[in-house]
Amino acid sequence: MPEKLSCTCSECGLLNCYRRDKHFPDFCLTENADRKLVCESARNYGAGHRDGDIARAAAEVEGTYYGKLTRVEEIIAFANRIGARRIGIATCIGLIQETRLFVKVLKAHGLESYTVLCKVGSVDKTEIGISDDLKVKKGSFEAICNPILQAKLLNEQETDLNVIVGLCVGHDSLFIKHSNALVTTLITKDRVTGHNPAVALYTSNFYYQRLLQPGQKL
Ligand code: SF4
Repeated sequence: MPEKLSCTCSECGLLNCYRRDKHFPDFCLTENADRKLVCESARNYGAGHRDGDIARAAAEVEGTYYGKLTRVEEIIAFANRIGARRIGIATCIGLIQETRLFVKVLKAHGLESYTVLCKVGSVDKTEIGISDDLKVKKGSFEAICNPILQAKLLNEQETDLNVIVGLCVGHDSLFIKHSNALVTTLITKDRVTGHNPAVALYTSNFYYQRLLQPGQKL
């Protein structure tokens, strides 16, 4: 078990690793990192390495369009730069309308898409040990979200880039784990904030003070 650090980047007020225009704090993760690990990770981005090509494509999209493109457009720009033509979409049922619009946008930009809904396979929740009490509509057939099958069906299609549209917390984790293709996210589900999870943080000084109250068991 690694030694527990009292301070990490979230406690750093300097962020000197970005521009090197201040100084590094004593606990700095850059300063204290094993140099071998730093060099090894840098090698992953070397010429001829796929991870390097992906990192450079992401940086090109950021540098070219900083603050100008929406995320929908950035995904297309990124796909074009990594040579992805076939876009897999792992969508939540609650965001199927948005997915249909996204499909139209992809098509308008000459990209193919293949969509798999979270409820694919239609397996009742009780079949995997989820009690009826935990169903949204108790006493009814209610299919599990099936991110593993979503990933496997997209793997079968040999998609080049998979895009998450609003998968639940944890279901997204499983989807990412089982996807062969790279995964990026178009929409991060937050049922309460209209899919903008940052809202809870932005308003935690007043409306969402409960976020900061200790002892709340979730
Ligand atoms: S790497 Fe160092 S300078 Fe950068 S945020 Fe972390 S602690 Fe601060």
